[in-house]
Amino acid sequence: MTKRLTIAIPSKGRLREPTWSLLDASGLSPQEPGERVLMAQCRNADVDILFVRADDVPEYVQDGVVDCGVTGLDLVAEKKCDVDVLLRLGFGLCSLQAAVPTEDSAHTLSDLDGRRIATAHPHLAATTLAERGITADLITVTGSAEITPRLGLADAIIDLVSSGSTLRTNGLRTIGTLFEAEAVLISRAGVSHSESVKTLTTMLSSVVNARASRYLMCNVPTDAVEAVSALLPTTGSPSVMPLATVGIVALHALVPAKDIWQLLPQLEGLGATSILTLPVERMVP
Ligand code: AMP
Repeated sequence: MTKRLTIAIPSKGRLREPTWSLLDASGLSPQEPGERVLMAQCRNADVDILFVRADDVPEYVQDGVVDCGVTGLDLVAEKKCDVDVLLRLGFGLCSLQAAVPTEDSAHTLSDLDGRRIATAHPHLAATTLAERGITADLITVTGSAEITPRLGLADAIIDLVSSGSTLRTNGLRTIGTLFEAEAVLISRAGVSHSESVKTLTTMLSSVVNARASRYLMCNVPTDAVEAVSALLPTTGSPSVMPLATVGIVALHALVPAKDIWQLLPQLEGLGATSILTLPVERMVP
């Protein structure tokens, strides 16, 4: 009998829904868990899903309770766990930033030397400050670090930030980034070569890659094919197909979704017409 692969995923919080959606898009169909259900089997694959807190995932994976897990890269670093990071998942993007009250004199990270900093991420804050040669007095809090400067408990904070609106609401301004994080797929150190872990990594990466890409189709005057091909931010060669109309060809290519905004007006400028972009479901390079 094949050994079933076990994956720990966040049971609540901001990583829960996007993780669930990624598993679904990758083709894994776990039975929808009810309230209090801690484990679900996938109907179509030899995979079991364990629902735990995102903070607990790194230790469950390190200790071999499960084979793989999805959690934040910041939590992997904070828990000092010995795991392999197999894949960045493209959601849960945030950064660990240092911030001070708007009126404070500090403007760079080194201005924090010798000052009191409140954080709920003590290990990550200590290591990333030490890497920059900054010595500070770290005060560990379990949450809401952003109110500590107003309460006189700290001069600055180090916290995870995505949009920055919480900092602004609390009269704080960022003075530097210490760590960039996002959701990641992790495995126990050394098991990434196992067939089932490789399959999981391929299936998830096919969706992560596809989400970051668009399939571009357009008609291009034959004499503009070279210029259009040179413009496309793609690593592979575009497909060029003849059309019934002489002097025009159809051009198809996979392009990064983030480049579409700049690309379309430039394509129009080179004479491209009937420009279409389509979402991609999966992409295995
Ligand atoms: P949770 O506390 O369970 O909602 O999830 C926390 C995880 O979400 C963190 O460990 C980060 O990896 C990620 N994350 C993404 N954006 C933010 C943010 N603005 N604040 C805190 N965590 C964030």
